[in-house]
Amino acid sequence: MNNSATNPTTLTLGLDLDGVITEAPEFFSAWTHSWPGKVIVITYRNDREKAIRDVESRSIRYDEIILVDRFDAKAEVIRDKGVNIYIDDQPEMLKNILQDCHVMLFRNDGNFDSDDQKWMLSSETGKLVC
Ligand SMILES: [Mg+2]
Repeated sequence: MNNSATNPTTLTLGLDLDGVITEAPEFFSAWTHSWPGKVIVITYRNDREKAIRDVESRSIRYDEIILVDRFDAKAEVIRDKGVNIYIDDQPEMLKNILQDCHVMLFRNDGNFDSDDQKWMLSSETGKLVC
């Protein structure tokens, strides 16, 4: 992590909207309101006004909402905006994020099979270790 790690007010939190904020809005509302630095919502959507409504209706504190139109564009936004911690529910979105950004994969019904108790990954995003 870069020098911003020494000053929490300069840490930037990045959040996905669908499958992350939408899954646990109370948690993310509380977290964003107590987060000392910037909050950027990065979403794979094309309707900006609806994205703003969906974020604001969940009482999320944010500095920017950025829409992307392809998977690897999120990693570019994260790099360009200096996001320090990023949460998404799709491993495809996390593949190309640089090592200096901490990443969390948010579990939901789209990426975890609760009957089998296993993550759902593709050969493009997962690697079995045994
Ligand atoms: Mg998502």
